[in-house]
Amino acid sequence: MNTGTTSTRRCWAEIDLAAFERNLKRIQAALPARMRYLAVVKADAYGHGMPPIVRRLMQSGVDCFAVANVAEAADIRHMGAGWPILVLSPLLPEEDHLLLEYDLTATVSTYEECLRLNALGQSHATSIKVHLKIDTGMGRLGIWHRDAPTLLAQIHALPALQLEGVYTHFSSADSDPEFTQTQRERFLAALKADAPIPENLLIHADNSAGIDTLSDDSPFNAVRIGLLQFGVPPYPDSALGRVVVEPVFSFHTRIGLIKALPRGTDISYARTHKLTRDSRIALLTAGYGDGITRELSNRGQVLIHGQRCPILGRVTMDQTIVDVTDCPQAQIGDAVVLIGKDGSQEITTTEFSEKAHTIPWETLCSVTKRVTRVYVGSREL
Ligand SMILES: *Cc1c(COP(=O)(O)O)cnc(C)c1O
Repeated sequence: MNTGTTSTRRCWAEIDLAAFERNLKRIQAALPARMRYLAVVKADAYGHGMPPIVRRLMQSGVDCFAVANVAEAADIRHMGAGWPILVLSPLLPEEDHLLLEYDLTATVSTYEECLRLNALGQSHATSIKVHLKIDTGMGRLGIWHRDAPTLLAQIHALPALQLEGVYTHFSSADSDPEFTQTQRERFLAALKADAPIPENLLIHADNSAGIDTLSDDSPFNAVRIGLLQFGVPPYPDSALGRVVVEPVFSFHTRIGLIKALPRGTDISYARTHKLTRDSRIALLTAGYGDGITRELSNRGQVLIHGQRCPILGRVTMDQTIVDVTDCPQAQIGDAVVLIGKDGSQEITTTEFSEKAHTIPWETLCSVTKRVTRVYVGSREL
């Protein structure tokens, strides 16, 4: 793919904001009317770049933002007042006051945190918004589900805490429906012990992997959507068929050099590949310093002139070597697709991740700062 944007770039990511917005509309249309949409934009909006993504989410009308920490939350707050922003990770004690400064909602898992935030609220004659997280089997954040009813009662008794939501997180939504159901039941049992469930309380569990398992009569009234809105179905064979999303992210580089090497030549560090024929190789102007992980050494492929070309030998920090013997049109300066479409071929984020022995979430987070994000897709009205 030769676009006008390639001129002086050695490696870049193209972010299609129009596709992103179409994905939002499709996900929103697939959700029951009562479901609130919590847009998860942690880690620089999964590597897509927070400001343009958040702006588009604000224009499209999501209900709430969710981020990992207060620094990310502050970035969103600077872009717009009034939007609810949920911090998903525990706060460090010295960060507590930022909840007030930026009008944020905290996630709490322990009575200690609740006491701390209640004291903060009281000392400022205000209340602190919190979501209680319940650990139903993830073994990470949250109060263990059996202890949740006690903590819920304690929260109700703390005057400066305003309980806005209760949530849990599934460990195996993609792979183990039975355990996911167990987690759902543990969560609902913990909530029921606190009857009656206050009106307006946000009750959420599902992420992108789980939204298709929502049933109409459940008390869940919000979902936390991350990966899916970026157009990567979390699991290729999950039952997400009803929400068809388009890729938002594509990843590009160039050919910096082409040369011929004789059969038998060793390629790159540690000589892990030996040419089996007289070959024409191309050096790409990107390596693991850009996000082409070393796991792709001798495994990955790239698209040049719509053709798949294999990566030879170890990926290096700034350069990657590919075989273009069967792609005689390849020239110095040509554009190369690492993730995305080129002619009739496509390398999806999922394929790239599988070859790299990782998951799409990590792939998107691993595209480094050196890689310019190029935004396309002006607002559709
Ligand atoms: C990151 C995250 C999500 C979003 O998950 P996706 O699979 O990307 O949709 C949801 N909930 C929590 C607690 C998270 O940390």
